[in-house]
Amino acid sequence: SDENLEQLRGVGSKTADKLSDAGYNTVESVAVASPGELSENANVGDNNAEKIIRAARQEADVGGFETGSQLLERRAEIGKLKTLVPEVDEMLGGGMETQSITETYGEFGSGKSQFTHQLAVNVQLPEEHGGLEKSAIFIDTEDTFRPERIAQMVKGLDGEILADLLRRDLDMGKEDVEEVELGEDLEDLPEETDEVLDDLVDEFLERVHVAKAFNSNHQILLAEEARDMADELEDSEFPVGLLAIDSLTAHFRAEYVGRGNLANRQQKLNKHMHDILRVASLHNAAAVVTNQVQSNPDSMFGDPTKPVGGNILGHTSTFRIYIRKSKKDKRIIKLVDSPNLPDGESVLRITEEGLKP
Ligand code: ADP
Repeated sequence: SDENLEQLRGVGSKTADKLSDAGYNTVESVAVASPGELSENANVGDNNAEKIIRAARQEADVGGFETGSQLLERRAEIGKLKTLVPEVDEMLGGGMETQSITETYGEFGSGKSQFTHQLAVNVQLPEEHGGLEKSAIFIDTEDTFRPERIAQMVKGLDGEILADLLRRDLDMGKEDVEEVELGEDLEDLPEETDEVLDDLVDEFLERVHVAKAFNSNHQILLAEEARDMADELEDSEFPVGLLAIDSLTAHFRAEYVGRGNLANRQQKLNKHMHDILRVASLHNAAAVVTNQVQSNPDSMFGDPTKPVGGNILGHTSTFRIYIRKSKKDKRIIKLVDSPNLPDGESVLRITEEGLKP
């Protein structure tokens, strides 16, 4: 990738090294950087940074202006990552979009982590089953990631999907494959299925790349590293299709306390969100971040809660999903402020097997 950068006008091997040390490994990643950010992170000087970015933009063809037809072309590539709860997916216009950030917010215990775990499973599914056939990066800030939960959710996939996945993995003769038709019950599968099921779970776990963030700076760093990892996986069998941050705001909220720190916090969060959005855009991946709610003293009526972070997240996230508890295992999923879909509400259940209608 250094070599790629060196092809750019004004970039010698020394500058290329500085750039890649700072995490700018591809021409695209330089093309979408801001001059201030590039000169600060890679220590290349303001004027130089501008020149490098201009050269990268020409090369990468990711210029600031796109024609309507170019935009349409890029949007045509947008994938939809499904929850596999039909009512919810329908409300979301088919699922969570790639190339953008979905923010899920709700109270503690409302199910934000469950939602995110399920997406880390679903993203790996073949497209015909609602996935993107890609892998997941999971930045875990509150020690909520549980591999056991992924295993339960894989085993809890719909029978038809699971049967199909197992069939793909089973080393069966071609005749057997023809005998077992898609859509039949799992019982029709051969006896060795249990072993294959465990292998299948392992495969899913292998494709969730988890890192724990110990504080907000570490979290920002991990999002930058996610960019490198996404670059590395781009040409693999399972490129990155989901970047999940659970929770986006917890560390920031704990560390930047008091009115005096608010501006600083928002600035850091803003940059962080743009790092996340960049991975999503460059790799056609869905980004999903979770957010807590804070009590809103201004609201006299209705639900007295609003997401932490206010406007900044509002402008960078495309879908905002509010999750709240209902009776028993039921959760109300509310779509809020979507730019191109009507607001709406739908219901799902959180079960041992995962998110279900
Ligand atoms: P949040 O991230 O919003 O704080 P979680 O995603 O951790 O909340 O949701 C926790 C809730 O999910 C639990 O209260 C429980 O209702 C449900 N849950 C978690 N694990 C399971 C499971 N294995 N089986 C059924 N429900 C579960």
